[in-house]
Amino acid sequence: MDAKTDDNQPTKVLFIGGLGRSGTTLLERLLGQLPDTLPLGEVAHVWERDVRDDEACACGSAFSACEFWQRVGEAAFGGWHSVDVDRVVALKNTVDRTRHIPTLASRRLKGPQLELVSEYVSHYRKIYDAARSDSRARVIIDSSKHASLAYCLRWCEGIDLRVLHVVRDSRGVAYSWAKEVSRPESPRGDEMTRYSPTRAAMLWNAQNAAFGLLRRRGVPVRRVRYEKLMADPRGVVRRLAEWAEIPVTEHQLRYIGGDYADLGPSHSAAGNPMRFTVGRVPLRYDDAWTVGLSPTRKTLVSTLTRPLLSRYGYTEPAPQPTGTVTVQPRRPSDADETATESVTAGASDE
Ligand SMILES: [Zn+2]
Repeated sequence: MDAKTDDNQPTKVLFIGGLGRSGTTLLERLLGQLPDTLPLGEVAHVWERDVRDDEACACGSAFSACEFWQRVGEAAFGGWHSVDVDRVVALKNTVDRTRHIPTLASRRLKGPQLELVSEYVSHYRKIYDAARSDSRARVIIDSSKHASLAYCLRWCEGIDLRVLHVVRDSRGVAYSWAKEVSRPESPRGDEMTRYSPTRAAMLWNAQNAAFGLLRRRGVPVRRVRYEKLMADPRGVVRRLAEWAEIPVTEHQLRYIGGDYADLGPSHSAAGNPMRFTVGRVPLRYDDAWTVGLSPTRKTLVSTLTRPLLSRYGYTEPAPQPTGTVTVQPRRPSDADETATESVTAGASDE
């Protein structure tokens, strides 16, 4: 038990956001090993994948057989059977969509919409509070990723919301979205969604721009580049812990080596299949896209995402008249830390 936890304080929620295939699950795994943290996985999917479809928890048990989640459900709702999943999904479809971000970003919500958003996020808050009480963790980690949910949580009273915005080179993201990846936790043997490079590029723009705006709306948002995380995993995790006010010693960070991390089990409820991996995990910069993505597609994605690629410090040569230039990725250096937009309260990005 952590004697420093104060039950009267709002539950601290560290929301990991960004477009999928950007390293959000890995970052959650790394941060979830820190003392006083509790990673829950992508809570956004709990309602349908777990409560309704009974998919597997990262601990290996079916959701309905996982003792942790059953305790949380009992404390939060008097049991998961009491949750009206159809109602939560209807609320999600009504308020938690990218197209609603402009409204959610406003300074004030109109009465009826505020009621819907409040009802929707109250379900999340009950999970966060119950998980906190059960674990006595200082910080609850939700890696739901979607910017629209972060905007909804902005309206959630009683939580202390901080957002880690994970960014990865758009061409690596587009390449990853084109690959076939199975979902081992799915009883139906589903595969993860696939997107064309154009679709992935447009989603990359929308999600990343949204997190930039969220920061300008006063929510503490810190940007983390996947490439920098891979280059200096221990250093990045240490600085993120400091930013999230998670006390940690160098000794406690020994689970992160130069190119590996020793990861323990968790109760991540949903997310990338990587959540099931326990033990020594290699930390390697995945640059398969540099040879796997065709020059035509590289140019296409580079063109579609150029403004934010440049803002995030991914070097972009000027477009060539032939349109066939090969764009080389650049690993971020320390100098990149100053090449980002202004940030909140002196926090520097990764
Ligand atoms: Zn579990």
